[in-house]
Amino acid sequence: QETKLEVKQVQAGWEEEHRRLGTIRVYCRVRPFLPGQSDGQSTVDYIGENGNIMIANPYKQGKDARRVFAFNKVFATNVTQQQIYADTQPLVRSVLDGYNVCIFAYGQTGSGKTYTMSGPDLNMEDTWGVNYRALRDLFEISKARVDFIEYEVGVQMIEIYNEQVRDLLVIDGSNRRYPFRIYFYIRNNSQLNGLNVPDACLVPVKCTQDVLDLMKIGQKNRAVGATALNERSSRSHSVLTVHVRGKELLSGSILKGCLHLVDLAGSERVDKSEAVGERLKEAQHINRSLSALGDVISALAQKSTHIPYRNSKLTQVLQDSLGGHAKTLMFVHINPEVNSIGETISTLKFAERVASIELGAARSNK
Ligand code: ADP
Repeated sequence: QETKLEVKQVQAGWEEEHRRLGTIRVYCRVRPFLPGQSDGQSTVDYIGENGNIMIANPYKQGKDARRVFAFNKVFATNVTQQQIYADTQPLVRSVLDGYNVCIFAYGQTGSGKTYTMSGPDLNMEDTWGVNYRALRDLFEISKARVDFIEYEVGVQMIEIYNEQVRDLLVIDGSNRRYPFRIYFYIRNNSQLNGLNVPDACLVPVKCTQDVLDLMKIGQKNRAVGATALNERSSRSHSVLTVHVRGKELLSGSILKGCLHLVDLAGSERVDKSEAVGERLKEAQHINRSLSALGDVISALAQKSTHIPYRNSKLTQVLQDSLGGHAKTLMFVHINPEVNSIGETISTLKFAERVASIELGAARSNK
């Protein structure tokens, strides 16, 4: 069991890592080829241990044929869910010390965002993604600290589609019910900071199973009105927010932290000549909000005086948790197939813009 001293050491370790790495980090994950995917020619030429990745573009010649991108870490196709989480865990832990943390999954549709965040099969714990591992950890650590900090945990789940926010945990009075374990929920939780959607339901949770149950409800609500869930989910951003409130038993002081787990809409560019009507509108909203997110993160990294939060719903909603003492981690996903090369390069350029400044600082300190 953790002692109070160990908690303090964890916090001190965090401060140190914070100074060394900065508050924004970018990890790149390469999706493996899926069974049945043909020739297996990969656009990933080389992955270095220092967070470099070299991309080979088969359509280009000479010096344009290869390009190196630099991130905090690059995960090759054989890296397991467990290893991915091992590199995420310190961020999750810091939520229990009162930090706000945002973890984003970015990439084109089919590049592995949902795999990283949720995993392929909820019924197999081995394959769980960051979301469930994070929640399991939060509950385990809070239990270990029970002698000196009393924690309460609550969850919100929203979706942003066409710049509209939708509460995925709302009960609409029909036959939808929360599982019996969850005995109340809060509306109008404007006293909470972290997620800027004052009337989104906040549901208290006591264990990982509560969260799994809620996520099923959220998924069901998400599907309402969509022709196919996959289609809808690739064109909307989903935000799962975990609020943590801790009361130090000795001093009575309160700490608050929150963790946002964000599965972003697919980043693929839609061919303007082909998209019309609804599809074009969706594409424009997605492009605008993703570039607004990139602008906010890079303005924060550059320590600009003006941070353009108001340019999209996504950045408005997360405003309190981006910047200041908040920590941000972006997983960028790439699909190594040759016919994704255009998307791969634009994804990596976006990520490089998000990462570059802080990384530059971290490298020159070595
Ligand atoms: P996205 O959420 O970006 O649209 P998905 O997570 O749905 O993409 O991944 C697309 C497909 O690739 C799914 O069948 C998924 O199971 C598989 N996949 C993605 N990443 C991995 C991985 N790291 N290992 C094995 N299969 C993966």
